[in-house]
Amino acid sequence: MHEMTIVANILKIVEDRARGAEAAAVTTVELEVGELAGVEIDSLRFCFEAACRDTLAAGAELVIHRIAGRGRCPECAHETPLDFPVAVCPECGQARVAVIHGKELKVKCISVDGPA
Ligand SMILES: [Zn+2]
Repeated sequence: MHEMTIVANILKIVEDRARGAEAAAVTTVELEVGELAGVEIDSLRFCFEAACRDTLAAGAELVIHRIAGRGRCPECAHETPLDFPVAVCPECGQARVAVIHGKELKVKCISVDGPA
């Protein structure tokens, strides 16, 4: 499953940071997930809970910040909201709009319980 791979990568980052902070446990994980990232949020949450068992992040709260899609035309520099990663510029109708926001998928920050 696509989301399981994503979660595995996220967990690796989270555990690295938690170990770096000598944390006893991770309490909150905040993610930035763009609306054009192609990620199913329900599935992501489900996989996260499953994958966190027996890790420092077990029972951690998952907070997801959605980032709206936004693009900029390489020809006329017009900026527009995007619902899909591929769009023609509504201003000049010529160029393909380049995605500038909405494909994010990253760990924004984590909260931990201090060293045991
Ligand atoms: Zn344009």
